[in-house]
Amino acid sequence: MFEKEKENYLNKHGFEQTCLKAVLFDMDGVLFDSMPNHAYAWSHAMTQFGLEMSAEEAYLHEGRTGAGTINILAQRAWGRDATEEEKQVIYKAKSDLFSRCPEAPKMPGAHELLIKVKDSGRTPLIVTGSGQVTLLDRLNSNFPGIFRWELMVTSFDVKHGKPNPEPYLMGLRKGHLQPWEGIVVENAPLGVEAAVAANIFTIAVNTGPLPDSILLDAGADLLFPSMQALCNAWDDLLATFA
Ligand code: MG
Repeated sequence: MFEKEKENYLNKHGFEQTCLKAVLFDMDGVLFDSMPNHAYAWSHAMTQFGLEMSAEEAYLHEGRTGAGTINILAQRAWGRDATEEEKQVIYKAKSDLFSRCPEAPKMPGAHELLIKVKDSGRTPLIVTGSGQVTLLDRLNSNFPGIFRWELMVTSFDVKHGKPNPEPYLMGLRKGHLQPWEGIVVENAPLGVEAAVAANIFTIAVNTGPLPDSILLDAGADLLFPSMQALCNAWDDLLATFA
């Protein structure tokens, strides 16, 4: 299984073979079912400031830096860039709304997949645009013994958010990996773009409301409808990409 997808990937990037050593996981919408909270907080905060944004649109911007998202909406509504002060005030309003949301549950299938990855001797890494300082605590309490701090890329590590490949390139660097030694798991179109631009085989899991076509058009090499479905396919993926 998945031989065709692997061949397409190798041809596209001019690589000879895969040698799977690590899986690079995005966090929101992949390990935690947190995107409904983010979408709610973004759309309500933006609307407070006269920047009209639907919850669905928030999913299209997922992975971008907060400042980047605010600026795109300011350009659209006001015809100019947001000032630094506006960016800070609006982003704080978003963060405040988000922090009042109920804690997001683990994504079904995510923990089981992480254990399978670890048990197969492969390394799980985190590559997230999030910068919550409680992140590692949350990851460790929900997925004990899976992740190591030095193998995490967060918003503190990078200048450019997704869709720039920088976060995934940094993930490769931290893991001492070549692109063909990793697989990325992403739920967001901009995250898929970033991972593909870093030349890594990119699996999209469609855990949100966007149509599959948006993730495939972003360049995903393979798509699953859920983390559970990806988890169920892990043994076949491992056999193909090992
Ligand atoms: Mg995500």
